[in-house]
Amino acid sequence: MLGLMQHHPLLISDLIEHAARTRPDAEIVSRTVEGPIHRCTYKDVALRARKVAHVLTGWGLGPGNVVCTLAWNGYRHMELFFGVSGAGVVLHTVNPRLFPEQIEYIINHAQNEYVFLDLTFVPLLEEMAPRLSSVRGFIILTDKAHMPVTNLANVLCYEDLIAEADSSYAWPQLDERTASSLCYTSGTTGHPKGVLYSHRSTLLHAIVQCMPDGMNLSTRDSLLLGTPMFHVNGWGVPYAAALTAAKLVLPGPALDGASLYQLLRDEKITMTFGVPTIWLMLKNYVDQHGLNPREELVLERVLIGGAAAPRALAEAIEVQFGARVVHAWGMTETSPLGTVCTPLPKHANADLEQRLDLQALQGRYPYGVWLKVVDDQGDALPHDGASAGHLLIKGHWVTNGYFGSESEPLLDEDNWFDTGDIGTLDSDGYLHITDRAKDVIKSGGEWISSMDVENAAVGHPEVTEAAAIGVAHPKWQERPLLIAVRKAGSNLSKEQLLGYLSTRMAKWWLPDDVVFVDQLPHTATGKLQKRALREQFKDYQLPGTPS
Ligand code: ADP
Repeated sequence: MLGLMQHHPLLISDLIEHAARTRPDAEIVSRTVEGPIHRCTYKDVALRARKVAHVLTGWGLGPGNVVCTLAWNGYRHMELFFGVSGAGVVLHTVNPRLFPEQIEYIINHAQNEYVFLDLTFVPLLEEMAPRLSSVRGFIILTDKAHMPVTNLANVLCYEDLIAEADSSYAWPQLDERTASSLCYTSGTTGHPKGVLYSHRSTLLHAIVQCMPDGMNLSTRDSLLLGTPMFHVNGWGVPYAAALTAAKLVLPGPALDGASLYQLLRDEKITMTFGVPTIWLMLKNYVDQHGLNPREELVLERVLIGGAAAPRALAEAIEVQFGARVVHAWGMTETSPLGTVCTPLPKHANADLEQRLDLQALQGRYPYGVWLKVVDDQGDALPHDGASAGHLLIKGHWVTNGYFGSESEPLLDEDNWFDTGDIGTLDSDGYLHITDRAKDVIKSGGEWISSMDVENAAVGHPEVTEAAAIGVAHPKWQERPLLIAVRKAGSNLSKEQLLGYLSTRMAKWWLPDDVVFVDQLPHTATGKLQKRALREQFKDYQLPGTPS
């Protein structure tokens, strides 16, 4: 017997219409590529999203078709998030920081029919356009006054399209499992792989994201999205913001300390999202200019994900900014929300040190996903906070298989997806990520967490960044080598750094050697490129080993 309750498909178009109905005048504030700050409302975004949908439908696009964006965080990108997916078309948000060959590969692989691009990316697209076989036209996200002279064929001005389009559009009542958006992982090995989200997975993710033990978003917040909208749909924040109709601030291409600080202060931001790097840049800016964010800002929460939140950063955010770090873990394949670090009742009276210990963990998993940690044989490891193993996940917003490779099995027989991360779970369910499986340093049959070594090293006030990699060793199989970047002007020596580390980790974890470099290589999503470092240092002679 079925229940006697109404059934409505969970659709992305409903999110923006809900925001426009319930808080039509709540603001979307954008720093534009053209320069000035632009202000509009949910009512405006909904109206213009309907126009986008109208245009796409008029071009004959619908379910099964894919269009892509190459765009920064801004209101036009937001309109495309709702207008494209709402019309049943798949929105492919291309990461412009991928190598040009990878961008070309994914646009062709996803058979993109139209490209919506910011002015920044016109030269890039001009260069590769002749090789983009499925693309029928290019829409530049600007107005007539800023249209560039370009040799792109079939080029249109976005504002002209919007001005001419009809806003009376009835959103299609799609099957909620219809594909809505597509993101490619940065592909550190082989080609980037596409993750295809659905309306249902996106809506369930957004609802759980807003819960207090999710990311705790509410209509009273003023959100600053420092995560690019081309990173896992901006971590789902555009959807969750519409669900709550919270004020949303989109910083465009300017993620430098000065630009972010100005928005945090002027827009009275209560919560921000981003990778550790941008908050480190912000902290440096505050230090250099002797600012007093505790007085000037109303910031409450800084959500950090994409890489481990360094303890020193979490401390600065508490002490200097008067805000709290909310540490989260996830990946493109998990939409991305996997875990969020929120406290339990027993943490109510935790002091600063205890809070920082807690915030160093990646957090607990919310309803809707399941996590487990297994050994090399696939057997579940105890939740003791010490047994490190392969992290597996399944859930309502976890992928089934990569786009275009649906026939290749990705999950095990019980639908678990192997994240490629190594971690521990403790008795309270808190996850601690210790490594990527391929980055673990295997010394004498034991595992050394490269991330823990790196985090300890960046805790030194004169170290800005560090990478720990395994280097071949005749006795121990591998031993850690630390590659570190010193602060400008620092003369920190190898011995001093090792002395500092020796009080912060087990003796056998201590790197056998330290190399100082000017900079470290990064991937398109800003992560350390350890593969490149392993290649570069593969013949490195550790002290005390025979040459
Ligand atoms: P890409 O693989 O394209 O760089 P993803 O966002 O999919 O981008 O990367 C996901 C990976 O990032 C995770 O598998 C994990 O290794 C790492 N990661 C994400 N959040 C954290 C975190 N809070 N702490 C440590 N590592 C993290």
